[in-house]
Amino acid sequence: MMNSHPESYYAASANPAPLRPPLVECIDTDVCVIGAGYTGLSTALFLAEQGFRVMVLEAVQVGFGASGRNGGQIVNSYSRDIDVVEQHVAADQARLIGEMAFEGGRIIRERVERYGIACDLKSGGVFAAFTPRQLRNLEEQKRLWERFGYHHLEMLDNRGIREVVASTRYLGGMLDRQGGHLHPLNLALGEAAAFESLGGVIHEHSPAVRIERGARPVVHTPQGQVRANFLVVAGNAYLGGLLPELAAKSMPCGTQVIATEPLPEELACSLLPQDYCVEDCNYLLDYYRLSADRRLIYGGGVVYGARDPANIEAIIRPKMLKTFPQLAKVKIEYAWTGNFLLTLSRLPQVGRIGDNIYYSQGCSGHGVTYTHVAGKVLAEALRGQAERFDAFASLPHYPFPGGRLFQAQFSALGAWYYSLRDRLGV
Ligand SMILES: Cc1cc2nc3c(=O)[nH]c(=O)nc-3n(C[C@H](O)[C@H](O)[C@H](O)COP(=O)(O)OP(=O)(O)OC[C@H]3O[C@@H](n4cnc5c(N)ncnc54)[C@H](O)[C@@H]3O)c2cc1C
Repeated sequence: MMNSHPESYYAASANPAPLRPPLVECIDTDVCVIGAGYTGLSTALFLAEQGFRVMVLEAVQVGFGASGRNGGQIVNSYSRDIDVVEQHVAADQARLIGEMAFEGGRIIRERVERYGIACDLKSGGVFAAFTPRQLRNLEEQKRLWERFGYHHLEMLDNRGIREVVASTRYLGGMLDRQGGHLHPLNLALGEAAAFESLGGVIHEHSPAVRIERGARPVVHTPQGQVRANFLVVAGNAYLGGLLPELAAKSMPCGTQVIATEPLPEELACSLLPQDYCVEDCNYLLDYYRLSADRRLIYGGGVVYGARDPANIEAIIRPKMLKTFPQLAKVKIEYAWTGNFLLTLSRLPQVGRIGDNIYYSQGCSGHGVTYTHVAGKVLAEALRGQAERFDAFASLPHYPFPGGRLFQAQFSALGAWYYSLRDRLGV
């Protein structure tokens, strides 16, 4: 396991953060959170705001996982949309989950405002369609989100999409005015600082290596332990086998990102004149945006089973050039990979093990907004208001067929099928 952030544009442009020494004692507290990504930090911050004593244990550093490496895109709703949720749970649960689909972005904006988090937040996200079918799906998505009271969407025809993205690949698209983008690691660092400003404690380089279950569970790290009334497990794709119940129902997958050198202002503005972020509508999607210093940050590609590809630039650069051939001469300065957690349904897994071990994981690639709602929902549940927690917990989840051994092959087959459909435009 690495012992600091992997090299990335985000690590290179991170805001200063304090040293957070490892846990070397035995502590008693109200809540112990495992993992300092958005899920853990969001939960910890909500709980600290409500006066709980909270300790966060992070195996490496704040934002080491997907939260410090992602595309930085604020995408509303879930990896599968509310219509799929409606097929799986009772109507009142689906209504609650549907309403929460638009809350994560609001939470992020409120926190950035309240705690003065410097993370280059910008509004506006585009879904770009290659095919008439994808365009029809976006129209359906607009109707669906409007049914849940969300009215910030605008369809873009062929001319409309060319006004926001200088690529000839797309037929049209949809603008979400309340979508947007930010520097993901700086958001995590800002949330950690906000939590600490309220008396919360974070120990880095303190992996939870064993959980002793019981009326007051104990989390063991290599040099210390924490006894708490409640545990919140937020290790997501980096959790490994700490809780076998969680490993069985999910699979870590890698996705890769590159960042160009800073682009001349004119070129940057010509690519994305309104500075919106973009994700396309393919199953194995490309996503991109400009950074505050005008680099193009371009991500895509999925490696099932979370292996690191030998050469990320060789995978992602051709994708970028397919979208923007005008960048042929531009240098790539950073390339990195990160893991998200896939579930079979591509819907998040939220629940409780025994009476006092809570978890949320598996947002399957779209987690920036969801993890922020998850934190709120977990904090509510710990305070005894479990209605919204129960709604998420009612989503049915199944293990990957064949267990972890066959998960990668199974998912790769599924991805192959969906990307074939994308290519055929059906
Ligand atoms: C490359 C990439 C691009 C993405 N782009 C987007 C995007 O643009 N928009 C979007 O919505 N979503 C995106 N996602 C998904 C999104 O980043 C994740 O869904 C989200 O960040 C998950 O947050 P998390 O807190 O649950 O997990 P993580 O951020 O992975 O945090 C888990 C943390 O737990 C720690 N941990 C694990 N085990 C232990 C342990 N035993 N003890 C202590 N600590 C432990 C890890 O070190 C890690 O810091 C992307 C993901 C990746 C990988």
